Amino acid sequence: MKVPFLDFVGPYEELKPELDAAYERFMRSGWYILGKETETFEKEFATYCGSKFCVGVGNGLEALHLTLRAYGIGKGDEVIVPSNTYIATWLAVSYTDATVVPVECDAHTYNLDPKLIEAAITPRTKAIMPVHLYGQPADMDSIMAIAAKHGLKVIEDNAQAQGARCNGRRTGALGHSAGHSFYPGKNLGAFGDGGAVTTDDETLADKIRVLRNYGSRKKYFNEIKGYNSRLDEMQSALLRVKLPKLDEWNARRAGIANYYLNEFSGVAGLILPHVPNWAEPVWHLFVVRHSKRDAFQQRLAEAGIGTLIHYPVPAHLSAAYQDAGWKRGSLPIAENAADTVLSLPIGPHLKLEDARLVVEAVKGAVKTL
Ligand SMILES: *Cc1c(COP(=O)(O)O)cnc(C)c1O
Repeated sequence: MKVPFLDFVGPYEELKPELDAAYERFMRSGWYILGKETETFEKEFATYCGSKFCVGVGNGLEALHLTLRAYGIGKGDEVIVPSNTYIATWLAVSYTDATVVPVECDAHTYNLDPKLIEAAITPRTKAIMPVHLYGQPADMDSIMAIAAKHGLKVIEDNAQAQGARCNGRRTGALGHSAGHSFYPGKNLGAFGDGGAVTTDDETLADKIRVLRNYGSRKKYFNEIKGYNSRLDEMQSALLRVKLPKLDEWNARRAGIANYYLNEFSGVAGLILPHVPNWAEPVWHLFVVRHSKRDAFQQRLAEAGIGTLIHYPVPAHLSAAYQDAGWKRGSLPIAENAADTVLSLPIGPHLKLEDARLVVEAVKGAVKTL
């Protein structure tokens, strides 16, 4: 591969002295779970998002799952989710035994289409989980207005969009609560698994603190049947080094995205991401569409360009959701996305000369399709 899809070592190389020092501080502390590093990271990340509270948990999926639990959502309830997302959004709902109600996305922003939400609301609906997919914020103003009208909770899935803005305000502080993932490939990635919930709701934050730690506030006194899902001290210490770099790294992603958008405008057959004028995306992924996606990906691989498909199987057609009985044709926009999307290399450590190679390879490949 001349240009790998994502450079995972670049962040370490850029921050090696600071990361090594944080690691040593953590090792010497003799305190590895629920200590000062996590407490401090939680405060720093809450401030970054513009939220009052942050609770560190084991991963992004658990951030969403524990939030739904803390709201008391379960069997007999319905939760609206986007048809086009990573399956974790759906799984979080399914864990609680609530019913997943998919709503189609806008075909150009790939995010929940607010115009379609009200038709999916029933007396059982409890929450809406918009996903800021590919780093692009969902239309939160419209979604919050619908939620207010129907008395629903809005839980943002902010796994892919740390730092993104909607009308100048950061995602993670736009809904009633938000789940974040620090999976290594995310914009704010840890060196292992990690996640967090942000919210202004003190009662919710408190419930999640209890849920993540075996249902206890006081060691060995268990109020409820909780879980073990905690952001650990090592990941917190390392994330504290990366967080101050996030805006700069997101800006580098935006530079590459703008370069791609300019170079690819007018390239026949290539559908580019659309950014609404109120949105400031953080380009977690740069996703294009082509009707001959598989051949396109093959040509790029031959040219040494690493690409991925996010995602090849829509959640409703995955084997995991076979029991729900969805058929091909039931969510055509999500199905079309799965058949045509392709993610090109993008990241804060992608070199300009490599981005140039991507542009040349894409222009060359498209001509042969
Ligand atoms: C990564 C991701 C998650 C889950 O995060 P993990 O930390 O991997 O559990 C949830 N939703 C979306 C949209 C994601 O991309």
